[in-house]
Formats: sequence, C-alpha cells, structure tokens
Amino acid sequence: MTRKIIEAHYVKGSLTPGEEVFLRVDQTLTHDINAVMTYLAFEAIGLPRVRTECSVSYLDHNLLYIDHKTPDDHIYLQSAARKYGVWVSRPGNGICHAVHAARFGVPGKICMGGDSHTPHGGAIGMLCIGVGGMDVATAMTGVPMRLKMPKVVNVRLTGSLRPGVNAKEVILELLRRVSIKGGLGKVYEYTGPGVETLEVPQRATIANMGAEMGATSSIFPADAQVKKFLTAQHRADAYTELLPDPDVVYDEVIELDLSALEPLAACPHQPDNVKPLRLVEKQPVQQVFIGSCTNTSYADVARAALVFRGHHVNENVSCTCGIASRQTYRELMRDGYIDMLLAAGVRMLEIACGPCCAIGQTPATNGIAVRTSNRNFKGRAGNPNAKIYLVSPESAAATAICGTFASAEDVMGPDVAQLAAIHEPEQYLVDDSMLLPPLPSEEAARVELVRGPNIQPLPVPEAPADHLEAPVSLKAGDNVSTDDITPASAEFSSMRSNIPLMSRYCYHRYDPGFAERAKAMGRSIIAGGENYGQGSSREHAAINPMYLGVKCVLAKSIARIHKGNLVNHGIVPMLFADPADYDRIGQEDVLEIEHFRAQIAARRVTVRDKTRGFAFEAVLDLTDSEVQVVLCGGQLRYLKQQLAK
Ligand code: SF4
Repeated sequence: MTRKIIEAHYVKGSLTPGEEVFLRVDQTLTHDINAVMTYLAFEAIGLPRVRTECSVSYLDHNLLYIDHKTPDDHIYLQSAARKYGVWVSRPGNGICHAVHAARFGVPGKICMGGDSHTPHGGAIGMLCIGVGGMDVATAMTGVPMRLKMPKVVNVRLTGSLRPGVNAKEVILELLRRVSIKGGLGKVYEYTGPGVETLEVPQRATIANMGAEMGATSSIFPADAQVKKFLTAQHRADAYTELLPDPDVVYDEVIELDLSALEPLAACPHQPDNVKPLRLVEKQPVQQVFIGSCTNTSYADVARAALVFRGHHVNENVSCTCGIASRQTYRELMRDGYIDMLLAAGVRMLEIACGPCCAIGQTPATNGIAVRTSNRNFKGRAGNPNAKIYLVSPESAAATAICGTFASAEDVMGPDVAQLAAIHEPEQYLVDDSMLLPPLPSEEAARVELVRGPNIQPLPVPEAPADHLEAPVSLKAGDNVSTDDITPASAEFSSMRSNIPLMSRYCYHRYDPGFAERAKAMGRSIIAGGENYGQGSSREHAAINPMYLGVKCVLAKSIARIHKGNLVNHGIVPMLFADPADYDRIGQEDVLEIEHFRAQIAARRVTVRDKTRGFAFEAVLDLTDSEVQVVLCGGQLRYLKQQLAK
C-alpha cells in the first residue's frame, strides 16, 4: 500500500529504502501552536496561493486566551488562510487529526502535517507524514517533498480485542516490542484478519501512536471499514479501495494476536516503558485525563462512560475529559454519554488539545497522572516532577473510580462484556459550519494579513562559514525531547510566534542557564546523546537554538523529524562517528572545524577539541538535497533559489 501510494506520487529519486525520493503532496495540515512560522515562511516565499489540492489550518491546540498572544496568533492564522486559499477549522471544531481524517482524508492521497501525529490519517489508507512547519510551507508551494524512502514493516494482526481491551493496547504492545527508536525510517503497514475487526477510529489510535516508535508513518488498508466510515461521514464519494497485493513481500513482518492482549500502561517517562496494568504498583493517582486526538472517538468515550455508570470519580482524583471533535462531542451528548460522565463527577473540557500538551490541567508536584494521550515525557503535562502513565479510556475511567491503577474488568467484573456492544455510529452527525472554505482568488488577494504584537518576523539563519570555532554550550544526555528544548504549556506555546521572547526559555527546565550562556557565547555547538530531539515535530526546538547562535548539533543519534527541522533552520546535524567520543568532550570545550563547507559536502567532518587537544570524526546522515539546504543556510533560502530557477 505504501509503495503504491509512493509510486503514484513519484516525481524523482530512488525507490530503494534509505535513499532519497521526491513526492507530490496532495494535502497539508497545520495547527495553531506551530503554524505561524509556516505561514510566515509561505509569506516570505511570495506565492499568492497554495498549490496543494487541500490545505487546512486548524486552530485547535491552545484555546486558553490567557493574554493577547494566542488571539494574536489565531487572528493572524485565519487571515493568512483566507489570503492563501487555505481552509480554516475554527477554534472549537476539533483537533486536527481527528477532524482531518473525518472531513478531508482521502484514501491513497499524501498528506503532510506540521505535527508528529499526522500519521493518524493512515487509518483510512492515506500516507500521512509528520514534518516541521518549514516542510509544510514547502509542500504548500507545490515543490515536491523529499523523503528517505522508507522500509515497509508488515504488522499482521489476528484475533480480535477482548472487551475492556482497547486499540491503545495494540500500539503499546508494539512500542514494548519495538521501542521508541525501532520505527526509524519505516512505515508500519497493518494487514491480516484482525484488521477487519478494527473500526477506523481504533485504527487511528494505532496509526497516531506509530509516531512514538519514531516511524515515518503507519497505514491501514482502505477496505470495507473505511468505506463504512466515509459513508457515515456522508463522504462515500471520497472512498477508493487500497489493499496490499496478495503476493506482497515486506521488509519485515511482526505478528500480533489481538485476542492475547490485556490492559497495558506506558510508565514514566517513555511511551515504550510498557507493563501490564495489573503489574503497575498500586499508588494513589492524582489526576486522570480522558482526552487527546489519540483516544477519544465516539466508542472510546462511550465505553469510558459505561465504566463510570453507577460509580463516582474518587475523591482524591481530578478527572477531566477533552473530546477530540465537536462532531463526536455532540453525538456523545445526543446519546446520553456526556451526562453519564458528568453524573460521575468528570469535568468536561473544551474541544482542544489542552492538557495533552500542557495547556491546562497540570498535575500536582510528584503527582501521578493517568492519561489516554500519547506522550509521557517528563514535563509533557507541564510539571517535570509529575509522573505520567498512558492507558486506554476504559482503564482511565476505572482508575479514576478506584483512585489507583485499575482496569475496566476490575470495576465491572463480568459486565465488562457489555463494552463489546459499543461501536461507532452508523451515521455521524455531520456539521461543517465551523470550517471556513478557501476564498476565491480575487477575494483572497484583497485580504490583509493581521499581525498583532505577538507575531514577530521569522528569523533566517546564515549559511555555514568555512571555518567554525565555537564552544559547547550544552552537553545534553540521551533522549532529550523537544519538550526539554522548548517546554510545552499555555505560557510557552503562546510564545511560539515570538522567537526573541521564546528563545529566552530554551532548555528552561533542562538547564535553566542555557539560553543566557548560548547567547553570551555568540556561536556555539550542542552535544547530545542518543535520540536527540525525540518527540513532537515542534520546529521551535531548532529555531530557538538557531536564534541563540547554535551552529551544530553533534549527537550520538538524532530523531528523524528534529533532524529535518535542524536542516531547515540552518543548524548542521552531525553524528559522532565513534559514540565513545561523546564521553571525551566536555561542556564549554572549544571545538574547531576547518574547511567546514567542503566537509559538510563530503558528509564527514573532522572536529578538533581545542580545549582537550584531540580530534575526532563526525558524520552527516543527510541526503544530497539536505546537504544543499544546509549549505544554503536553511530551507527558506534554498526554496527561494529553487523557485527563482
Ligand atoms: Fe493535540 Fe496532543 Fe494530539 Fe498533539 S498529540 S495533536 S497536542 S491532542
């Protein structure tokens, strides 16, 4: 399926795994806390209108207007969408991934999104890839997307989920087996008789969290379930079948029996730290959040509500529920499930990402938070001292009732079988009144961009100099996440359109002295351990260090999306040729690289540690075009050159 889509969108390059291929992009999506940079870049490129079939700007993440910053962003984004021929999904309509799959997704198309969980749309047989905002701006210009041709892993599902076991368990089990790095350079393609038993939103939970394995994407067949889903969305005409060929040969095969799964939990502080829920130590839970794009389909929330029936949220637990779309919220309200949640003492939140990205509902100090979302890095909920466990909605409801880790079966006993009767609606409650369609070109041309004081110019990096001498401003450890580099929370999210302000908080929680130190150094290098930049697609994790003068990141390994963001924003991503050299250098050591540009082109760089008097080798795991982008000083300069040709 992956190859069929790639071949149908092929422009140039190689179809050999690991090599660079260029693909036509049909759709893009952006969301409010990352997109201002995307639209500023698009504006800087100077095209009058996007050149995709469909681009959508979602105002969905931060709806807490605690000061002028977020409304400034939303008004700018709406004006930019109106000007450039982009759909707007207004605040309150829903979280980008849930709305996009339901209202815009088309099997067989390619969608690039400025969010790491864009692969959610793989649930309907679409190839959806999460990238940085600059890549989305590039896709909007119609310039083909560069991609490392992925390997394709077949996950062959058999059996069916038992009541009280959710699609969340499927992806947690895969994370347990494969780890947070195991999916690098791979697309996970789900087949087998078990697939037929999974409704589209269940598939979406799995595809969404494929991002946690570091995967390029995940995809399910466009089969009878997808046809049923699109028909229920009154979009039957968007359906085209997409199935794997009977004689398909995959790069790797994983077998997974759905019937054998039991409730699981991802324990702090990594999504692959997975254990059976029954083995998690029974500690008091302070907070439960049933929400996020990952796990709040109609059936998810209805099942959680059924677990609550006849029970109440434990007096020591703060339990909130944030549903991913207005459509789902209204259906659940119509069918009485919201009332069941309210009767149980659950607090209903706005239709937005909210707590998932630390915008509200921060857990208490040392508090245990149990969430149905997809990430549990330190600080992801806004408090680095809290511990986040990821579970299914059924287990979250049971935990909220018991005040400690519990499964639906623990609460319901044999009645847990009743959960099997809940399915997605036969017909969804379709109401697109919160979607603004693109304006006709003439009208769009007259729209003025509205730039409040929070909208500051996009910083543009310099091309690398031929001689670099710079100190190490930070020696970071393994698994530094984009949350460590640019903290999540309402306060910080609303600074993302204002880099001079936001950069002051770069690495704020990880190393509070970093921003000042890097600025004082003028130009510097960050040294990192394994999996540097894991987590979200947040390009601010590259833009802020760039703004503070960071010229290179030299790490043992770098997460895929973050590496792309570094390239796009003019920071040279380099890997220790011998990871042992990481231990030999120290923070504040002065590193020197001669003939830097020529060495970048050769993808092998000799670095001299002037402080300790030794030299070591670094390599650049970059494609030809990425090398060109780095040498240009980032994607914006590169793109302008390309479009001028
Ligand atoms: Fe929003 Fe969380 Fe989903 Fe990201 S993972 S789109 S922050 S709900």
